[in-house]
Amino acid sequence: MRLLILSRSGELYSTRSLFTAARRRNHFVRIVDHLGCDLLIENGANKVFYNGQSLIGYDAVIPRIGHTVTGQGAAVIRHFESMGLLTTISADALIRARDKMSCLQVLSHKGIPVPTTVMVNTYAEIHHLHKKIVAYPKILKVLSGTHGLGVLKADDEQSLIVMMEAFYNLKQKMIVQEFIAESSGHDIRAFVVNGEIVASMMRTAPEGEFRSNLHRGGHGKPVLLSPHEREVAIEATRLLDLPVAGVDMLRSNRGPLVIEVNASPGLEGIETVTKVDVAKKIILYLESRRKGSI
Ligand code: ADP
Repeated sequence: MRLLILSRSGELYSTRSLFTAARRRNHFVRIVDHLGCDLLIENGANKVFYNGQSLIGYDAVIPRIGHTVTGQGAAVIRHFESMGLLTTISADALIRARDKMSCLQVLSHKGIPVPTTVMVNTYAEIHHLHKKIVAYPKILKVLSGTHGLGVLKADDEQSLIVMMEAFYNLKQKMIVQEFIAESSGHDIRAFVVNGEIVASMMRTAPEGEFRSNLHRGGHGKPVLLSPHEREVAIEATRLLDLPVAGVDMLRSNRGPLVIEVNASPGLEGIETVTKVDVAKKIILYLESRRKGSI
């Protein structure tokens, strides 16, 4: 196959890993910066230009789109989709997955367990709606946050209100969530490719921290998921139309709770911790889609 990886840099671990896996499977592969792509819509014949050259003759695209450029990245993916290329994520799925509240809405509506969550849009409700969650501490999340930045713990009402007011003033969309005390400092990342869990790890926060993100100093170890956890993770990716995704879950007293589904999951943490060649699984998935379409 002829593959394109959309990435800001070939030096990034995930990009390199995908590039290597594709070459090992004897595919032609090229890395293209999505921010350098220009799009032409002409009489229904869409084209993508990169450095002034039309990108033609490719079979599939593997987007690695960062949070800050979701809209622009999605426009490029949509163009490739319209040109008939396979993709590991559709533009629509990327946009929806990037909105934490939308994800939780879809998942909860379809019966996937998630923590009780409140979205406050009006100043008046800053003082009220969060009371639907009774116990303290409560978690406050900025919707645009990633890598644990913008996830805070409020120990009492006074600090919660102060934080919410600050975010409101900064025009940041936010959610308040019940704090899952029994999983504090731990979460589970299940890496799903094409409806299969290909690798899973438990992340543990450093001493004194409740956020277990590896970017916040957490460390990971391989973990065996229960059949129910596997089922929940796989179903979450199916509902969000994400053939490649990292599903983050908390182990609570009432079973697994999905906190986030990552649409552009990094490979460094999961491959280093589990020693699974996740990039290869992604390439094999594209190969199977290609076979299916011939
Ligand atoms: P991000 O997308 O920024 O990583 P998350 O929602 O995944 O934000 O939260 C970051 C970390 O904070 C999680 O990995 C988990 O360790 C912790 N966390 C998030 N939500 C809760 C919660 N409701 N209860 C307890 N811990 C939580």
